[in-house]
Amino acid sequence: MSVKPDYDWRCHACQSLNCAGNAICKARGFKAAASGQEIHAAISGKPLERWPSRHESQKHLRERMAALSGWKKFFAGLLCGMAAVGGLIFWLSLFSLAADGMLAGMAITGIAILLLAGLLATGGGDQR
Ligand SMILES: [Zn+2]
Repeated sequence: MSVKPDYDWRCHACQSLNCAGNAICKARGFKAAASGQEIHAAISGKPLERWPSRHESQKHLRERMAALSGWKKFFAGLLCGMAAVGGLIFWLSLFSLAADGMLAGMAITGIAILLLAGLLATGGGDQR
């Protein structure tokens, strides 16, 4: 959907003046109503940044873990298990309101995720 301002407007991207009723800039075709991201992309010349979907993130993580060699792959699997155990401890402690257990669970998961991130950053495959 394109918005047609009922007033004269200045283009966000190239600063040209445009007449009321135009939905796009007469100079470069930029929209009258654009998001901050779109304006930033138009001014900086960089493509729109987009967060990967949850599915894409998981696929990417699996690919990176698969690219790890020998002991690193084993260790990464171990850390995923450790993160899951920490999460489980946290949840169980949450229901019994045991603060020590919650802290321990968070610490275990946090350490596992940090180590995993470090492992993935150093190891194997292409860096994207
Ligand atoms: Zn323009």
